[in-house]
Amino acid sequence: MKYILVTGGVISGIGKGIIASSIGTILRSNGFRVTSIKIDPYINIDAGTFSPYEHGEVFVLDDGGEVDLDLGNYERFLDITLHRDNNITTGKIYQSVIDKERRGDYLGKTVQVVPHITDAIQEWVERVACISVDDDKTTPDICIVELGGTIGDIESMPFVEAFRQFQFRVKRDNFCLVHVSLVPQPSATKEHKTKPTQHSVKELRGHGLSPDLVRKILFSSNKNNSFDSLFLSCVKIFCRCATQMPLAAKEKVAMFCQVEKEHVICIPDVKTLYRVPILLQETGVFNFLSARLGLTLKCNYDQSM
Ligand code: ADP
Repeated sequence: MKYILVTGGVISGIGKGIIASSIGTILRSNGFRVTSIKIDPYINIDAGTFSPYEHGEVFVLDDGGEVDLDLGNYERFLDITLHRDNNITTGKIYQSVIDKERRGDYLGKTVQVVPHITDAIQEWVERVACISVDDDKTTPDICIVELGGTIGDIESMPFVEAFRQFQFRVKRDNFCLVHVSLVPQPSATKEHKTKPTQHSVKELRGHGLSPDLVRKILFSSNKNNSFDSLFLSCVKIFCRCATQMPLAAKEKVAMFCQVEKEHVICIPDVKTLYRVPILLQETGVFNFLSARLGLTLKCNYDQSM
């Protein structure tokens, strides 16, 4: 199983769900079976009791699960049928841990956020990622996990810590991080401001979810035993902005966030959301993901998508 974690920076409602669904669409178009998990770090058990004035409509799944609207995007973009467990909330995780504690499953141990809550999150993700979401009941190849909210929120801390551990649990070749951030353009200057993105990536790194930094030491054949160090940064940063970013702004994000400039992708505002997968495909996101996660191409990308 391959996992792609999508996190968000600067503000919520930045388009993480659309970008996560679009990445899924591209992978699915290449023949991979994709499932998704949406994490909402609120304490409510589900979205069923939310005021529609505050949250908009509640999306109801085939199994009766009342969930966030993003799961509707996933079902439409990916042509899959999700289950109530594909939506994780802090409430559901705590409820499962407290139920276990009441049953005595922790054998008298002190129940804590680390390791009990973080373990429960990782176990939930691993379990649900393997549940079929297709009509033919086959196990998915790739699970896209969208972490709701913004990096740095108190509410999402246990989830961030869980994924910090998770990248080692499932091995780095099976885990990839996509960060969606905002590049604002103040109306007076129309300049693309990269500072908020720099700060959000710094915050992400501070929590150990940094770009996958792979350090390879290549010993050269000469007798001095000298070596070259090669640093490869393997994260993708998606910058949401009103208009296309100039190369200079991308280079600045790349330099300060320690990623290749090819890994900084601008997703401007579009008239129809179904253009986002096409924009992403044009940036070569599939090639990046297949190299990063060792995916073997199953069929040709459907250009008519
Ligand atoms: P998040 O998952 O970060 O909360 P969503 O994916 O739900 O954000 O998107 C928030 C809103 O922004 C939605 O109404 C969505 O339709 C809109 N949106 C997302 N991406 C774009 C885009 N590239 N262009 C225009 N509107 C977008």
